[in-house]
Amino acid sequence: MSYDDALDAWRKQLRDAFADPGVADFGDRLVLSAAGVAGFIGAERKERLRTWARDIKRWDVLPKAERERLVAAGLRYCAVLANEKPVAAPPPQKARVLQPATTREGSLALGTPLLGLPGVGPATAQKLAERELATVGDILHFLPRRWDDLRELVPIASLAVGQLAVTRGTVKKARVAFGRGRRILEVTFAGDDGAELGARWFHFRGGMMQRFAVGVRFLVSGVVRDRKGAREMIHPETILEAPEDDVASGAGVRVRYPEVEGVPGRTIEKLCRAVVERFAGEIPDGIPRAIAERHALGSQADAIAALHLPPVDLPAEALRALNDGVSPSQRRLVFDEFFFLQLGLARRRGTARREAGLALPAAKEPERALARFFKALPFSPTGAQRRAIAEVAKDLADPHPMHRLLQGDVGSGKTVVAFAACELAVASGFQAAIMAPTEILAEQHARTLSAWAEATGRSLALLTASTPRAARESQLALLAAGKLDIVVGTHALLAERVAFERLGMVVIDEQHRFGVAQRALLRDKGGMLHAGARAAPHLLVMTATPIPRTLALTAYGDLDLTILDELPPGREPPATRVLFSQTGRARALKELRAALDAGRQAYWVCPLIEESERLEAADIKLADVTEAADWLASELGDVPMGVVHGRLPTADRDRVMRAFRAGELRVLVATTVIEVGVDVPAASMMVIEGAERFGLAQLHQLRGRIGRGGGRSTCLLVAGSRAGDAGDRLGVMADTADGFKVAEEDLRIRGPGEIFGTRQAGMPRLRYADLVRDAELLRLARTEAFALLEEDPGLAAPEHATTRAVLDARWAEARLFGEEAG
Ligand code: ADP
Ligand code: MG
Repeated sequence: MSYDDALDAWRKQLRDAFADPGVADFGDRLVLSAAGVAGFIGAERKERLRTWARDIKRWDVLPKAERERLVAAGLRYCAVLANEKPVAAPPPQKARVLQPATTREGSLALGTPLLGLPGVGPATAQKLAERELATVGDILHFLPRRWDDLRELVPIASLAVGQLAVTRGTVKKARVAFGRGRRILEVTFAGDDGAELGARWFHFRGGMMQRFAVGVRFLVSGVVRDRKGAREMIHPETILEAPEDDVASGAGVRVRYPEVEGVPGRTIEKLCRAVVERFAGEIPDGIPRAIAERHALGSQADAIAALHLPPVDLPAEALRALNDGVSPSQRRLVFDEFFFLQLGLARRRGTARREAGLALPAAKEPERALARFFKALPFSPTGAQRRAIAEVAKDLADPHPMHRLLQGDVGSGKTVVAFAACELAVASGFQAAIMAPTEILAEQHARTLSAWAEATGRSLALLTASTPRAARESQLALLAAGKLDIVVGTHALLAERVAFERLGMVVIDEQHRFGVAQRALLRDKGGMLHAGARAAPHLLVMTATPIPRTLALTAYGDLDLTILDELPPGREPPATRVLFSQTGRARALKELRAALDAGRQAYWVCPLIEESERLEAADIKLADVTEAADWLASELGDVPMGVVHGRLPTADRDRVMRAFRAGELRVLVATTVIEVGVDVPAASMMVIEGAERFGLAQLHQLRGRIGRGGGRSTCLLVAGSRAGDAGDRLGVMADTADGFKVAEEDLRIRGPGEIFGTRQAGMPRLRYADLVRDAELLRLARTEAFALLEEDPGLAAPEHATTRAVLDARWAEARLFGEEAG
């Protein structure tokens, strides 16, 4: 398949999904078609595609608005990719098929290629490889996505809408209809009782028509939907009724595998059965015996075998547990996944802990060292800030580098903690660097911190790409000579030419804006920043993205965590309301006018949709920044207004932001570029259009931009329509100002993909675990993993040999994956 063909195939699926996002079942097909594109594109693009695929995989449980949003995102991405040349030939999967490879379990037998196994000839092997099924190990982990109970056939007349059921029917009618310019296969089944069930396929091969000959009996399984009062299933699975499927003859549980393009379901089933029977015993058990016993965990091999080949007499209740993903076997796999993830993180953390670092003398008596700073502050630190500083100081007094994440809701005052850390380093005779993701933020920090630095008698400089050359040269010289105490900057600080005399402290603000790669780079390059390094500097990363604890344990599991769980006193959270459609927009405009009349400044935020992308997704009507700006300009007359969006050159963007901060501009029309850290105290109103398109966590971030000056502030969320659960979802924003609650809710609704982003790269993928459903298992696995490393740091004991082998194999695979991801 060529790049263009792959793109076409993907686009076609996306369009179909877009035309009817209410249809269940598109998820797998979208992922499959996107996978065809993945072989041609660069690592960074691939990573984005992967993130998207992870989200879209949850199709069946996503609300319609989410589906639309994701499909629209897919279409946009497709449009972007269409303008690019493929960077790679299709992956050389043939070679992979033919060579045994070690698998994620590190076992050679599991690396056996599939070619030659029952039903697998070269063509099938190739098709399987395209789906990343190349070895026996891959097949063992290719689990059924559903278990149908053929012992419990529901008569058509008794099917209830919303139910996942298996029924039996005789084909009464089959025809190809046309709708929205494409062909649809429609089949009507009649039950023994005469009741009817409709079935529709939006994608089907020519042969399907023949398959459903009138009078032939099928077992039909799928989710029952209501179609104008009649019942139907979309893309049900159908099995020609054979004697062995007859209830009377004792047919049991039928497993359903995900579709593999070009490989018949029967072939997959036969292959899986053969592989499980022959190879399941080879699956190593990495969980140490004592831990397995403590949590009553069976073996990994038994768990995998039981999922592929459930016993015929499995109780109905156990079957339900399987379909809900909470059976003992599935929990065994989830525990396994979490355990090795946490074990790897624990090992990483252990290594960091043993690195040589700088014990900072001033950190032994932080209260004394910081007295001058605290006195200079126009407020007294909150309890949470004091606790955080104490935790940081404890790390700094240790002769090993700190690796700490400071997490605090927007406005919780992380900057104070950051400066305290720097101050302790400087007071101990070292230099400190603070890195922010944008020039605006770096400038903002420099402004705040210079005042504090002056009070404590430290020298401080700002270093960004726009620092004039002469100034930069002298700063670089001062830094290298150790004559500058604190430097605040952007990525410019990472440049090779930036050298410190004795760097002791690195602070990274708004960490989530820096990619994984940069975080790794900075951590690893700590030494590089530290010219003539004797020891790695301490590292404090800060984020306002309120990550639920389960997610933090995974994404940042190798960092120590400090949470600022208290806002400075007197802070009133923005009063948030949800409005709908055009009337809502008009209402928002009215309130904006009133706010401007009262002398307030305001943000007007739009989702990012550009002209070219609109063509791709012709059905979405969304405000775009320029349209909104034009409209507001015509409505508001001569109110000075600025526009910022990602396409604007940085210099222009910063110029507009500065003017807004200075109050020269009263309204700022913007995309989410204003999301991070920007602090314009006088802005106390925000309108967010197309609010249903944003994640809750992101809305919370945006909202955090206002209400920083004290006093009342207003946030209006304008949703395009009441469709789906937009109202409920956005209602969360109106109900709570607590970023952690918002984040938990976001995680519950959207799944981890969105918030997690690329941070997962470089770690073993979570295939089975669900961070919401399995939060408790994560805690257990983490406790056990950390305890195990405490007891046997090198996993050197003979009874831990398998544990270590599995750990290494999992993380080696992840590194490969991570490297590929850039
Ligand atoms: P964030 O955690 O979002 O980075 P900042 O450090 O920018 O928050 O602080 C937000 C605002 O709160 C700033 O204007 C800061 O001066 C103020 N602030 C910080 N700590 C306190 C405190 N203890 N009491 C009162 N105001 C504070
Ligand atoms: Mg901040």
